[in-house]
Amino acid sequence: MYYDEENIFAKILNKDIPTEVILENKYSIAFKDIAPRAPKHLLIIPKGKYIKYDDFLNNASKDEIYGVFSLINELVMKFELQRSGYRIITNAGNDANQEVPHLHFHLLAGRNLGPM
Ligand code: 5GP
Repeated sequence: MYYDEENIFAKILNKDIPTEVILENKYSIAFKDIAPRAPKHLLIIPKGKYIKYDDFLNNASKDEIYGVFSLINELVMKFELQRSGYRIITNAGNDANQEVPHLHFHLLAGRNLGPM
């Protein structure tokens, strides 16, 4: 499976589509989901070209992997979500109905999110 250079998150990373970046580090950025499913719904993506979770873990460096997960943690701290709670989701491939073929983690919070 090849990385689709035209996917919407590639365009956000290339700044072809203007997007407000909430937090950023060397390896990843975070921005708001365009169709939020919770009061707080952020997307965290690696800057590298990875399609989904297994692609990332199999091919990214440890620094890149740490970069993404530490940015998620920074968001949790920034918005004090450790107090009320939050959910992290990544959809990978067909059965998960992954819509955008660039790895992303959803960070959801701001209300009781119900069962999985
Ligand atoms: P998936 O179903 O692939 O896990 O989630 C893709 C997410 O990307 C969806 O929640 C959708 O609302 C979001 N999304 C799709 N296009 C855009 C866009 O152009 N900008 C932003 N910020 N989010 C998008």
